[in-house]
Amino acid sequence: MTPSKWDQNHPIWSEWSQTAPYVWMNGELVPFLHAQMPVMSAACRAGVNVFEGIRAYWNEARGKLYVFRMREHYQRLVESMRIMHLPRPEGVAEMEALLLDTLRANRFQTDVHVIHTVYLDAPGMEALGPIGMYIVARPRGRLHPLEPGITCGVSSWQRMPDQATPFRAKSGGNYLNTRLGGVEVRRHGYDAAIFLNTRGKVAEGGGACVFAIKKGVVITPSITSDILESITRDTLVELLPRELGLAVEQRDVDRTELYMCDEAFFCGSGWEIVPIRAIDGVPVGGGEVGPLVRKIYDLYFNIVRGNRPDYRRWLTEV
Ligand code: PMP
Repeated sequence: MTPSKWDQNHPIWSEWSQTAPYVWMNGELVPFLHAQMPVMSAACRAGVNVFEGIRAYWNEARGKLYVFRMREHYQRLVESMRIMHLPRPEGVAEMEALLLDTLRANRFQTDVHVIHTVYLDAPGMEALGPIGMYIVARPRGRLHPLEPGITCGVSSWQRMPDQATPFRAKSGGNYLNTRLGGVEVRRHGYDAAIFLNTRGKVAEGGGACVFAIKKGVVITPSITSDILESITRDTLVELLPRELGLAVEQRDVDRTELYMCDEAFFCGSGWEIVPIRAIDGVPVGGGEVGPLVRKIYDLYFNIVRGNRPDYRRWLTEV
């Protein structure tokens, strides 16, 4: 007999219940399989929630775990809560403290990914409460290795515009659009989707922002392109000119600019830095991981892992 979902040996959930032993939910640390919500809540039925995906990095030499840009993640969570009318009594500092408590309770000594969700715990679509909250943290390494890079397809599904369901808010329901595009391009043999917005310009990946480099100039869609205001994107916009002497242009990006660039990559808290080696079957540059993406990858990991004292301000020790 197949184990029930509430069984520690369930094929999908056993790994989670073993590796994320304690979930913080509505004021308690509970075992993973006890973190539940009513099936008729608007959160379950319609994805009425907002969340953050946050990483913490284990520094082996120092024996320390560091959360990357925690303050910015919680500032964005509060903004998403405001856009989607999901108020909670906690402010940024209280939510940060809850995250640190959850990480400590789980005693991680490895790289960790966190989902911190605020959700509508009532059936009515317009209800303004009660609003629930949970934090799930679990060990998670790289989504993709540096080599050989991934292949992308531009999806026929468009990113929703700000006047429909804004991508500036990191809300669960937005990811239905990500699902449609992701399933579509995988059916066509690609690894991941790139979405255009309703103006026909490049928006972003399913859960990552997109960067292209041509003749040493870095381009990325502006924050008014119907994208999430990504913290990794912001990190690179600040770092690339200073650390690598690269000019960064934030502007409208055409689909065909992606076909003509020398290098391209996805970035995000979960994705980190992932080289793109082909788009719609057109090789990016030579179809291999380029020299600048390699440098950006090394720079990013040195900083997030705490090996660059000059960027320690972006890290919070657990
Ligand atoms: N766009 C979308 C739709 C995302 O889900 C993510 C991941 N949070 C990103 C971009 C990258 O954002 P960040 O760098 O803040 O993780």
